[in-house]
Amino acid sequence: MKAAIFYGKEDIQIHEVAPRPLKPGEVRIQIAAALTCGTDLKVFKRGYHAKMLTPPSPFGHELAGTISEIAETRSVSPSASTGRWKMGDRVVVANSAPCGSCFFCKNGRENLCDDLLFLNGAYAETIAVPARLVEKNMLRLKPKTRFEDAALAEPLACVAQGMDDLNLRKGQHVLVLGAGPIGLMFVALAKHLGCRASVAGRGSNRLRAAQQLGADKVFEVGKDGDIWGAVRGSPMAGPPPAARINGGDGSEFDVVIEAIGKPETWEAAVRLVRRGGSVNFFGGCPSGTTISLDTKMIHYSNLALLASFHHTPRTFRKALKLIEAGIVRAKDFVDGEWPLSQLPELFRQMSVENRAIKALVRVRE
Ligand SMILES: [Zn+2]
Ligand SMILES: [Zn+2]
Repeated sequence: MKAAIFYGKEDIQIHEVAPRPLKPGEVRIQIAAALTCGTDLKVFKRGYHAKMLTPPSPFGHELAGTISEIAETRSVSPSASTGRWKMGDRVVVANSAPCGSCFFCKNGRENLCDDLLFLNGAYAETIAVPARLVEKNMLRLKPKTRFEDAALAEPLACVAQGMDDLNLRKGQHVLVLGAGPIGLMFVALAKHLGCRASVAGRGSNRLRAAQQLGADKVFEVGKDGDIWGAVRGSPMAGPPPAARINGGDGSEFDVVIEAIGKPETWEAAVRLVRRGGSVNFFGGCPSGTTISLDTKMIHYSNLALLASFHHTPRTFRKALKLIEAGIVRAKDFVDGEWPLSQLPELFRQMSVENRAIKALVRVRE
């Protein structure tokens, strides 16, 4: 079969590879939909990921498809076996599964598991799914659920985790920094919850998508990347707002979600939130970067600063429910379709001029 292999910084190659034999408890999925992801793009540009993969590695992790092979079960417990799956089952699988026995797993924080097992290889005709993923994070689709919608479950699970961590309430005004797929999913879920949602980002197609998802205000960020200027209508002048107490300069945002992953936008997020507000540093920045924050502002503005990482089996299931309820659909996020053979070119284009939202990768030609 054809499969994409990630070798390092800006190096993806498509190879003819032999599917590996299945071990007990594993299944093979014939992939029907694979989606590109901002995380994959970051990995492509940076050449590494702290947790997800070590090159050379199969690549891609947002997928849905059909079970095409089942290995015998390794367990006698029917709930923890392949016994409940059959050939032709339509499924979505997450990109990781927790161990279930470490401190974090036992405390409902499986996203922080000491031993998360990651799965990569969505950009391929088939994928072998390890037993732990089959047991913990592979879900059956309803007959009407489209594969490309289901493939959104993984990123949406991360967004659902971010929403849960923020404890958002109806009526709150949320500002999302970044109009990529993750930022847009935050807009969709915030609107679904009954919040006001504004977004600051770049790229007319992305901002149009935000409007279609019901964004109340859309702030177009200029080439200079000045988020503050875009939201406030003027460049930062005089003493930095950091020296004032939040809200004294008209901030209306109860919650600010940073969905870009740059130190300067992490800092802007803290300045843009209202007194008593919450900030979620959702976008992961490059390793080794730091930010500086005004202690007086954080203290006297009573700010809640938090970060969300990854997803849990609970938020993965929640994400599929949201998809099957039609709250989140691929057609709101996917704006291109590419054959697997052109994946290296797709990533090159995305890394230069990242204006696409998400691409559907055709793994069979
Ligand atoms: Zn992803
Ligand atoms: Zn664990």
